[in-house]
Amino acid sequence: MRQDQEDPYQRRSAPVYAAADRAGSGSVASPRPVLYDAVLLDRDGTLIEDVPYNGDPEKVRPVPGARAALDRLRAAGLRLAVVTNQSGLARGYFTGEQMRAVHARVEELLGRFDAWLVCPHDDADGCDCRKPAPGLVYAAARELGTTASRCVLVGDIGRDVGAALAAGAAGVLVPTPVTRPEEVAAAGWVATDLPAAVAEILRRQQAVQPATPPTTPVRTALVVRSDSAGDVLVTGPAIRAVAAGAERVVLLCGPRGRAAANLLPGVDEIIEHPLPWIDPTPGPVDPEAMRSLTARLGAVGADQAVVFTSFHQSALPLALLLRMAGIDRIAAISDDYPGSLLDIRHRVPVGVPEPERALSLAAAAGHRLPDGDEPVLRLRRDAVPQRPADLGDPGYVVLHPGSAASSRACPPEVATRIVGALTDAGHRVLVTGGPDERAITARVAAAGGTDLGGRTDLAGLAAIVADARAVVVGNTGPAHLAAAAGVPVVSLFAPTVPFGQWGPYRVPTIRLGDAAAPCRDTRAASCPVPGHPCLAGVDPDEVVDALRTLAVSGGGSR
Ligand SMILES: [Zn+2]
Repeated sequence: MRQDQEDPYQRRSAPVYAAADRAGSGSVASPRPVLYDAVLLDRDGTLIEDVPYNGDPEKVRPVPGARAALDRLRAAGLRLAVVTNQSGLARGYFTGEQMRAVHARVEELLGRFDAWLVCPHDDADGCDCRKPAPGLVYAAARELGTTASRCVLVGDIGRDVGAALAAGAAGVLVPTPVTRPEEVAAAGWVATDLPAAVAEILRRQQAVQPATPPTTPVRTALVVRSDSAGDVLVTGPAIRAVAAGAERVVLLCGPRGRAAANLLPGVDEIIEHPLPWIDPTPGPVDPEAMRSLTARLGAVGADQAVVFTSFHQSALPLALLLRMAGIDRIAAISDDYPGSLLDIRHRVPVGVPEPERALSLAAAAGHRLPDGDEPVLRLRRDAVPQRPADLGDPGYVVLHPGSAASSRACPPEVATRIVGALTDAGHRVLVTGGPDERAITARVAAAGGTDLGGRTDLAGLAAIVADARAVVVGNTGPAHLAAAAGVPVVSLFAPTVPFGQWGPYRVPTIRLGDAAAPCRDTRAASCPVPGHPCLAGVDPDEVVDALRTLAVSGGGSR
């Protein structure tokens, strides 16, 4: 948004977010929606048919169903803004006056928008508002009195989704015949048309809102999340929602998730026990261990249990143990028929981000995040130690090459070249990894970074990540630590699981890697394709560019 350009935004003079409308500002206000305050819409190809460089109001044609879909959003109390690249202004193909006439015609046909945000620049201008840069999204959020992470953007090309994610907003792609297949593959959320996108936005918004509070108060809630650190971290918002509605929360986790469980706010007590129907390399089922687990669960005295799982895991074996432990109210997501094992059998469509998927189960069990607690990942402050003093000032970039699943790790030779490129661009790079990743971190850091391999546990890593300007990481636990710290992520995301479910949540993110690689949706733990092509093709300069887009520059301050 260069200041030397003439009026880049067509602003309205009236305040767009009157104080009386702000949720939480008055006793009679309805609770603030959990997920979104606003929907941002691309213009050409999304709201109206794309007529290149159109300056003629007579040529405005809404896409089918647009008016009714927008009215549904308005009726739900969502603010609407248009965010549009109009490089035709920079190129002189039409005037600002003509553009305003087009926008007046759009409002005549589609109703009023609360804000219009226009980038008048060309790619060559290097502005920070032309999508996929995040500037228009930030500006729209400001104009609407909210934050980018409480916005969802609907657009028809990869630039739209990229701008949304780079600002920490959600992005929905509604492809048209001109949308490139790789843009569709890379999008985490795809809808068939505008009315379908709107229906899913409203469904997700509703799904995290309990229809009714629990009929009897919950004194002790037992929440369950087995599996690894990342799984536990993304369940954090849902566990906080349960904690808001219960006096005491006991978390059952597995050994691989214990360190993450220690970091979660809202947890009063932790039980650690492996679950052989969840663990990726399970031991045999030991009847005695199951009996002792059942007894421990019974001793919790929980009056409600909420069993969180990933989409490919079953809650039912544990539900049986919980029943045998005498727990009356059990809630879980289950596509499989649960018989009498569950009191609340919840179902979630595929593609929903894991934190929201879990929040929707908490809602089905009667719980919601309190007003003022955003549905972001969070860590307990008292559980994260001081960052080691010998690392110098904050403002470095963390590169974490490894992953618990090798299919999701960045190939070491690529990570090495990324460190070289970042160092050349003036970044100070810390290379992190677990004790069993020391060989990789040493090799990667030799290109110019500082090797911290094996130096930290998860809490120590959280402290280092929290002071980073950005984290470059695959789909693994530290990506979620970065999200919890609000630190931007360059996500080297192997598409073995859906990005829409497992991408860094509600934090500025740029996704790199081949989203259409043959490993897509295989859930493979080790790459099934020779050469690990989904990440082997990442160009280190793309990482440098991504940091620039995220406003993370080498040297200077954030
Ligand atoms: Zn611009």
